[in-house]
Amino acid sequence: MRSKLVVGNWKMHGSLVENEALLKGLIPRLTGLGGVSVAVCVPFPYLAQLQTLLRSTEILWGAQNLSHRRAGAYTGEVSGAMLADFDCRYVLVGHSERRALYGESDVLVADKFIAAQSAGLTPILCVGETLEERQGGLTEEVVARQLEVVVSHAGVVAFENTVIAYEPVWAIGTGQTATPTQAQAVHAFIRNRLKSHDSALADRVLILYGGSVKAGNAAQLCSLPDVDGGLVGGASLNAEEFASICRAASTNNISGP
Ligand code: PEP
Repeated sequence: MRSKLVVGNWKMHGSLVENEALLKGLIPRLTGLGGVSVAVCVPFPYLAQLQTLLRSTEILWGAQNLSHRRAGAYTGEVSGAMLADFDCRYVLVGHSERRALYGESDVLVADKFIAAQSAGLTPILCVGETLEERQGGLTEEVVARQLEVVVSHAGVVAFENTVIAYEPVWAIGTGQTATPTQAQAVHAFIRNRLKSHDSALADRVLILYGGSVKAGNAAQLCSLPDVDGGLVGGASLNAEEFASICRAASTNNISGP
């Protein structure tokens, strides 16, 4: 059975003072959870703070982006090796905000995925369709394209220790969560795509759902057969709400879907 994973994405929020308060609220609320790993992906400047505050806890941490380059004259960029210096476990690649607002192409996302792995990080590959694409019946086509570009660049074996996050763009930050039927259908589609390359590996890959996950819908989403946890934006900024989501994932894992 796959374990569960819940990842918070703080986006461009936080300050030294706010982060400390949030984490000090979160740490005791997460003690004793079984069957679920918890991580938070934070803005680059706060990685050192998390390294200090989370070092002796079970909460993992990571970044929200990285450069596809190793080093060099790339002003403003941050490499995977730099993230590894701060003991990051995870890094988001291809979040829809990076694709839409910063023009990240499928190929660039694939290069970032490879760069993350080369630095010993676990990439969380984000895929998902826009509202127009869903309404146009293109969900599977879009998700397949986003996935296959990475498979063709990195090889399917590269997915062995990685995470995929299905995040319908229309559900991110909108309060409009995908229904369980919608989420399960796309998660199963993603797993089946990977199965066509490597069946055993596909059964092991964690596929998270992201898009307005809250304490009130997390248990239902996490109980779906192909949903292995959540990628949580807004709700990860509130210790009690985020902890409730993690508890929901944990309970589901223990009792089994
Ligand atoms: C996200 O930031 O990836 C996300 C899913 O945000 P939210 O949970 O706020 O929809």
